[in-house]
Amino acid sequence: MKKISSGRSFIPDGYYEPLPDLGEKGYFLKLLAPDVYFFTTGVYNTMFITTSKGVVVIDPIQGKGPLLKKAIREVTEKIPKYMIYSHAHLDHIGDAHLFAGEAQIIAHIETRKLLERYKDPHRPIPQISFGKNYSLSLGGTQIDLIYPGEGHGKGNIMIHLPRQKVLMVVDVATPRSVPFLNFATIDIYSQIKGIEQALNLNFDVYVAGHLHRPGTKKEMLEVLKYYLASKRANKAALKKISFLDVKARSRTQDPERLFGEYYQAVSRECFRMLKKKWKPRLMGFEAFTRGHCDVWTSFHRTEVAPE
Ligand SMILES: [Zn+2]
Repeated sequence: MKKISSGRSFIPDGYYEPLPDLGEKGYFLKLLAPDVYFFTTGVYNTMFITTSKGVVVIDPIQGKGPLLKKAIREVTEKIPKYMIYSHAHLDHIGDAHLFAGEAQIIAHIETRKLLERYKDPHRPIPQISFGKNYSLSLGGTQIDLIYPGEGHGKGNIMIHLPRQKVLMVVDVATPRSVPFLNFATIDIYSQIKGIEQALNLNFDVYVAGHLHRPGTKKEMLEVLKYYLASKRANKAALKKISFLDVKARSRTQDPERLFGEYYQAVSRECFRMLKKKWKPRLMGFEAFTRGHCDVWTSFHRTEVAPE
């Protein structure tokens, strides 16, 4: 069938990977290593592991639980024995209630505390929780749960399969993408340290929580480099843009607004410095990079952090 053009012209986006057509099924399933399955519905992704003693489900994405169940049945008759929450956020674990009857839930203690606070029937409270690390073994498969500290949110853990060299780390480093709005962080310094810790683990592919495909270690490193480049660019822009120059040009008499104009000028300069290198490399540059520059402005106002 001939496609009818809508006549809409698109703006230059730099690098991007268009959303693939998921077909009638509505999801993709990909084998990452023996018994380790990557599941995606395009924008969101997760994984599950099949063993002789049952299935380990991770992050039943909100609204996609029935598809995840279908995908599991596609490859095994075993039932979910455990369910791991990467973190407490509704969009990633909002369909947990569909698996809760049959599976024991495992999460970080901070995730448990948050879920106890929210009392959301769609996100049942974990039966098993831990502080620093936890190692789960089922049917000969070892799954290490590691807490790198809060970054994206309290209780956000890394899920590592050392033998299969697979890692899952959600919402901090989507492959070939700049980080989400304002880095989607509660602690940017800790978030970067967490990614560095992830890169020290032994893995070939990783599941990021988002994107229609898994990422490679090289792609995670590239995102980390962007984090650090944006920090450096902000520092350089703060040095370059003079508050007195902005003040001399300003037409406002509101001192708070004047500060806002100064930081906007810093943000514009930081964005300009990053554009040439990063827009052709990572998705979301035009949408999110100014926000990243602003986060670093706030950070540099109050912190002197190591490079
Ligand atoms: Zn999240």
